[in-house]
Parts: sequence; C-alpha cells; structure tokens
Amino acid sequence: MNHRRWHDRCTIPVADETRHGRTSLLRFTLSTAEKTNLLNLDREAMQAFFIGIGDKPFRATQVVQWIHQYGVDNFDAMTNLSKELRARLKDVAEIRPPEIVQDQVAADGTRKWLLRLDDGNCIETVFIPEAERGTLCVSSQVGCTLNCSFCSTGHQGFNRSLTVAEIIAQLLVANRALGRDPKAERIVTNVVLMGMGEPLLNFDNVVSAIRLMLDDYAYGLSRRRVTLSTAGVVPIMDRLRAECPVSLAVSLHATNDRLRDELVPLNRKYPIHELLEACRRYCVDSPRTRVTFEYVMLDGVNDSVDQAHELVRLLSTVPSKVNLIPFNPFPQTQYQRSSQEAIDRFRDVLIAAGLTTITRKTRGDDIDAACGQLAGRVQDRTRRRQRLMARTIQP
Ligand code: SAH
Repeated sequence: MNHRRWHDRCTIPVADETRHGRTSLLRFTLSTAEKTNLLNLDREAMQAFFIGIGDKPFRATQVVQWIHQYGVDNFDAMTNLSKELRARLKDVAEIRPPEIVQDQVAADGTRKWLLRLDDGNCIETVFIPEAERGTLCVSSQVGCTLNCSFCSTGHQGFNRSLTVAEIIAQLLVANRALGRDPKAERIVTNVVLMGMGEPLLNFDNVVSAIRLMLDDYAYGLSRRRVTLSTAGVVPIMDRLRAECPVSLAVSLHATNDRLRDELVPLNRKYPIHELLEACRRYCVDSPRTRVTFEYVMLDGVNDSVDQAHELVRLLSTVPSKVNLIPFNPFPQTQYQRSSQEAIDRFRDVLIAAGLTTITRKTRGDDIDAACGQLAGRVQDRTRRRQRLMARTIQP
C-alpha cells in the first residue's frame, strides 16, 4: 500500500469556520429543506426510496455504487441513469456529507479529520495506516452518555446520536481525502467503531451504516474487518448478533465490579458476569470466534500482577483475546499511564496463561488522535463538562 500521500501533508485548515457559518447554513437549509440525503439510506432503504418516487428498486444498486464506490456526489455523473431520472433526483434528493473543517496528519502518519455537522457540532474520524492494513476509527455519537472516568469523549458530555449519513460519510470522506481509486486496492481495509460515542446506543443507524460498509456495491468489507466496540450494553449485544454480526470488541478495563463501576459506570446496570455471558453468546456462530477485550492500562489502578491473574480467571470461559491500551492522557484527567514495565509484566501473565495479548501501539497522540482522546466539538446538553470543571476548580 502506498501511504506517501498522507505522510507528506501536515495540518490543513480546510475551511474558514466563520465564513461557512450561520448564513450559508441557513441558505442551504432553505433551498434543500425537503430533499432526502441519500447518504442516509442503505441499499434496502434506497430501494424503498426509488419505489416511493415511482421508479424501479434496482436503481438502488446503481446509485449506491455511484455514491459509495465511485465517490460521486453529482447526479449528472451517474451516466447509467436516464436524463429524466437524474433531473428528478436533483429535485428530490441530495448527497451531502459533513464538511471537513480540519485535516491533521501526525508524525506517524495517523490522520484525523474534524467534521462539522449541520447543527454545528463536530465529530472526529481517525485513519491509522499500518504496513498491512489501513484502519478507520469511526464515531457513532456526538459525545457520549456513558461517562467512563478515563475517557476524554465522556468528559465532553453528549449532544445526540449520529445519523446514518453522518456515520457512513466518515468512510466516504476518508476515502476521498486519501485519494482512493475504486479500481485499485482499498486504502481503508478495516473499520473500527471505536471513535466518539457508544455505538450500541445508536443501534439502528449504526447497523444501517454497517450494512453499507459490508455491501459489495458500496464498500465491500468483510464482517471480520468491521469491529464494533462497546462498553457492554448487554441486551443490544444480543440484537447485534442476531441482526448484523460483526467483530466485537468489549471495553472491560477492570476485573471486579467495584472497580469497573467506577471506571465504566454502565457496569452498575450490566455487571461483569452478565457482560461475559453476553460475550459467550456472541461467540456462537460469530464472524470472529473470539471477542477482543480492551483493557486500558491505568497506573496503580488496574495494572497489578494480581489483577492480571484475575483477568486470566475471568476470561477462562470466553473465547477471547486481549488488547492492552496504554492510557492516553487528556486535560483534567486524574489518571496516569502505567509504566512500560507494568504493562509488560501484565502482558506476560496473560501470555503465559495462553491468552492472545497485544499491547496497542499509541498512534497519533501528537494530534490527539489516540484512543480516548477524540473530543470533537460537542454542544453538551448534559452540562457534564461544566460540572466536571466546577469539581476540579473547587477544593
Ligand atoms: N463506547 C465504546 C467505543 C468508544 S471507546 C466503548 O466503550 O468501547 C474506544 C476504546 O478506547 C475503548 O476501549 C475505550 O475504553 C478506550 N479509551 C477511552 N479512553 C481512553 C484513554 N484515555 N486512553 C486509552 N484508551 C481509551
């Protein structure tokens, strides 16, 4: 794979925010209020759309291919559609991804885009190039409701879930920015839903977007190459398995409920034993036979040798592999990253017990693109950020 294109670049301010501010947005909304953004439709929904406008369902395949495989956003370029249909589409539909407002490349080639949504919120998407693959880390919500104590996104508060268009457009925009040629090798070979938000709390839109990722007429990724990461929304893990099984990653981070309640407050609702039961169920007929457990390494909190042994015991009944993630700090955090020795010691215990264990490399931290550093610009509706600030200021 040739990654030179994005290695060569540095910070690129793509658009002047004030210039593209309210007035242009207002003008846009007025002129297109009734139009359907076709990015919101997976192939099945697109078929329903074409039936709805009195055309044939097979148009959906053609248009999905134009939009997602060829990256076309102009109906005139869709040459296998009649002139009349193109004119009709121009009247009733649009292809409108969010606008890139910032495009940054880290020293290690990791690239991060800040995308502005129609309502002014911004989300982040990260591309991580490696020798054998290119992984896109996609966001599913503006902020997050889960408030995990070590996660920067959680500290931003929450505004809303993303639409299908806003989720899939991250892949579309990345492919475009990376200069993907539809006839050449894929540049984005893997997608991980590990960006901002909890994907299972935006289930319907996430599933439609995943269907497009898997669709041979869109991105054609295999189920093994699309990974959804969850903090453990147990009942919806079962729905995912039934409706759209893809690779599963679970953010575990602790080996007992007392600590996990503190790190991942969702644990109070779905404690560890229920979560592991759900993981076992997920593995039956799953596209990957193992669940990846993510474990953020926090100095003096969850990184002792005893805790490593506890983790081995806990995972002994689930087909698993473990990703150790060195904690990535952000302003106002109370945690510190475990030392390299502590991480290695912890890993060695797991490996000696036969658990496949990888210490995740920290990528893109010079542009705040590493795990847990994605913040975007969230118009917080929970006031969480203010409460946290007040707490850090008061003694
Ligand atoms: N809500 C989902 C997906 C988003 S978080 C989930 O919880 O899995 C993606 C991964 O990054 C999770 O494993 C999360 O625990 C981890 N993460 C969050 N903050 C981090 C930080 N500051 N340093 C390292 N990893 C972090």
